[in-house]
Amino acid sequence: MVTEELYAKDSYIKNFSAKVTKIVPSGVILDRTAFHPRGGGLESDTGALILGGNTYRVTEVKFEGNEIVHVLEKLDGLREGDEVEGRIDWERRYRMMRLHTASHIIASIAFSKYNALITGGNITPEYAKDDFNVENKDLLPKIVEEANEIAKRGIKVKVYFLPREEAMKIPGVVKLAEKMPPELETWRIVEIEGIDIQADGGPHVSNTEEIGSIEVIKVENRGKGKKRLYYTVKP
Ligand SMILES: [Zn+2]
Repeated sequence: MVTEELYAKDSYIKNFSAKVTKIVPSGVILDRTAFHPRGGGLESDTGALILGGNTYRVTEVKFEGNEIVHVLEKLDGLREGDEVEGRIDWERRYRMMRLHTASHIIASIAFSKYNALITGGNITPEYAKDDFNVENKDLLPKIVEEANEIAKRGIKVKVYFLPREEAMKIPGVVKLAEKMPPELETWRIVEIEGIDIQADGGPHVSNTEEIGSIEVIKVENRGKGKKRLYYTVKP
């Protein structure tokens, strides 16, 4: 049975109930989950599953084949069919949401204004990093400054689903770093109104105001035509 992906529909679910459908050596599979698995450039959520008085720490969530496995510290006492309560480590998740939406704004400015592409990136709760195909190091702090101006405007971030054929008509909908599997019939679209629109699987804030202030940690020279930007969000 395929797990219902609650996190794809609503990034703000912190607690949910679910049924254990399968136990595997590394953890459990649920009939539905709000835990975002590792992928799309984001670290996985962590948290806990509660059964009666027992707490099972969720240390990682990941795809194994097409199954979403919740890796648990211990499995003893858990059985298939158990009804559990899932709790997301919200502070950690919310920081990744803020950084993730920030990364889309940064990518959009880089591409539309400076013709710069992001060739790879990663988001952790503490910071994000992105690789740009640019020569000029000074361009990146400038892009972050412009991203802050946009974030401050309090722009709505919309998440919706479109049939593949329709989604593919949107210019620039698939960015290099985050490709959608072509076999997917329905694409999840994340739109920062008037700024950026792309196919994307990860959690986002619902308004750019929630990002706070984006701050550059450092810019690294990674060789010819490759600069790496590290940034975080505050407060
Ligand atoms: Zn994304």
